[in-house]
Amino acid sequence: MRYAVLGTGMVGRTVAARLNSLGHEVVIGTRDPDATAGRDEFAAWREGDRDAADVGLAGFAEAARHGQTLVNATAGKASVAILAEAGAAHLDGRILIDIANPLDFSHGFPPTLDPVNDDSLGERIQRTFPGLRVVKTLNTMNCRIMVEPARVPGEHTVFLSGEDPEAKAEVRALLHAFGWPEASVLDLGGIETARGTEMLLPVWLRLMGALGHTDFNFHVQGARRGGAGGLVAGADA
Ligand code: NAP
Repeated sequence: MRYAVLGTGMVGRTVAARLNSLGHEVVIGTRDPDATAGRDEFAAWREGDRDAADVGLAGFAEAARHGQTLVNATAGKASVAILAEAGAAHLDGRILIDIANPLDFSHGFPPTLDPVNDDSLGERIQRTFPGLRVVKTLNTMNCRIMVEPARVPGEHTVFLSGEDPEAKAEVRALLHAFGWPEASVLDLGGIETARGTEMLLPVWLRLMGALGHTDFNFHVQGARRGGAGGLVAGADA
């Protein structure tokens, strides 16, 4: 499968290398490929991670054209503009695995969320690009755990939100390939439920402060019993 990973930060680099290790053809997207190639942390990743060496690097639009499936690992405040730059025509029918969070650092740390409460970044992307099949997932944990869940001992949870059942099934299969057992994948329902997982971020940030590390994750006990209104469809599979 050809993947475009939009975003060259820790998340984009980590997910791109993992996808490459699984045999996929991966291009990572950025604003300015030459400038990014010259950055110390990007060069160190390319040289230091054997799964990174043959990941392609391109502008956001060219990367999006390459990808049969797209991964949004960009700063949340820039995600919609970056996808617009990629070109709506290149997005139609594609799955977008949306890992981004709408963190607003303009008032310092800890960041606030924008949008929040009655909207979410996942919904905003889906509304703006109706042809895109947005699946929000993996945004509630550190990126090393996304692709190597065994870093956290025992059972813990990864959420799925999205409107397209086939897209969610494909993303679920990718999560399994990353190492997530079926029982850990909790389908919350439509893309509106991304409000809930994005609003976990303020809790996650305080947990990081209290614990002093990032190797932790949320675990929903009792998910296998199902939820009110069948909200946890798939948990018993
Ligand atoms: P990040 O610093 O949040 O974002 C880096 C990417 O965003 C880069 O590709 C950068 O472009 C692009 N970008 C930033 N500002 C931009 C602007 N004004 N215009 C256009 N592009 C812009 O990277 P990250 O820490 O890897 O996080 C990526 C996403 O995952 C974020 O939404 C974050 O909230 C979410 N997330 C992070 C973690 C984690 O473990 N860090 C966990 C869960 C979710 P260039 O490549 O051109 O610099």
